[in-house]
Amino acid sequence: MQKKYLMIPGPTPIPPEVTLAMSRPMIGHRSGDFAKLHERVVAKLKQVFKTQNDIFILTNSGTGGMEMAVANVVNPGDEVLALSTGNFGERFAKIAKEYGAKVDMVDFGWGNAVDLAVVEEKLRQNPNYKAVLATHNETSTGVKNDIAGIAALTKNHRAVLIVDAVSSLGGMEFDTDGWGVDVVVTGSQKALMLPPGLAFISFSQKALEAAQDNKNPKFYFSLPAAKKALAEWNTAYTPAVSLFFGLEAALDLILEEGLDKVIKRHKLLAKACREGVKALGLKLFPAEENASDTVTAVAGDDRYDPEQLRKVLRTKYGVTFAGGQKDLKGKIFRIGHMGYVDKLDIIVAIGALEMALKEIGYPVELGAGVKKAMEVITGGEA
Ligand SMILES: *Cc1c(COP(=O)(O)O)cnc(C)c1O
Repeated sequence: MQKKYLMIPGPTPIPPEVTLAMSRPMIGHRSGDFAKLHERVVAKLKQVFKTQNDIFILTNSGTGGMEMAVANVVNPGDEVLALSTGNFGERFAKIAKEYGAKVDMVDFGWGNAVDLAVVEEKLRQNPNYKAVLATHNETSTGVKNDIAGIAALTKNHRAVLIVDAVSSLGGMEFDTDGWGVDVVVTGSQKALMLPPGLAFISFSQKALEAAQDNKNPKFYFSLPAAKKALAEWNTAYTPAVSLFFGLEAALDLILEEGLDKVIKRHKLLAKACREGVKALGLKLFPAEENASDTVTAVAGDDRYDPEQLRKVLRTKYGVTFAGGQKDLKGKIFRIGHMGYVDKLDIIVAIGALEMALKEIGYPVELGAGVKKAMEVITGGEA
């Protein structure tokens, strides 16, 4: 027998309440029951997004949400400022290129955060940007970006701020209306504790206006079609009904715990994870002040091979951590701690990490990381 512990930054473990809700008998997606369910989950999502803006629920993964944002806001030939800090920032820029935008991509480097001074200067130099693309939590590097700071800069600019909050929303502070974020995209399989298959997207008034008379070809991702369906009924095409059952259960769990408490829990667990890792002599990949609260990226070094470590963790302890993406493959490993995670999950992660490190010959004093993580957790700071 081997118990499995999925500790990657998505898909994430599913609470039993959510699994149970998803096993309910099928209902028609044009039934009154589904319309009511849709209305309820949109209202609950608005609390988690902290917005009064319209939210659309899409049956596709998070990237589809990113594509919908770009396809409707950006016209061929529009100038777009893409702020990239890793794999997902690069993906956003690629989508905009695919839709014919003239993309000005600023690459802050994998492991670094967006530098607000650079954004300010870019926006000052070019009043024509139609959109700014940003990633809240760069999952590939474990770096969080200052979206409030970016939003303060786009507020007085023509550009629509489009944010990929796929691996942060529901796990890290995000204030759509308070910060003034025009388009927010997130997905089901990260902090929202659902299986993959749904994306959620909100549009501000500024974004809706920018999307008017959009020339890009689209069908499944058409905002006018989604708006028409929302006004009349619910979704434009057949939604993943079972995931909607699960969505309501997941949102209820978040709102019952209290969004603020959910955010604090992620902060505390992230800190415990980082302190545990550091106590073993390992180095965090990003600078700690930029470290994500939902995924911890740890740098490899000449004393161990992250891929060998991951293999031992997986085969011997049933623990799955994520590796690095693209150029970081084999150079880092990542511990996901978003959504359905609690204190003892971090103890499992650090405990398994210690044992696996010892097994591959890395000098480790068993218990050193766990002790530190326990101190953070019992201290309850954050
Ligand atoms: C997971 C993720 C996505 C979406 O990826 P999908 O595989 O399409 O769901 C986008 N951005 C970030 C930052 C992510 O972590």
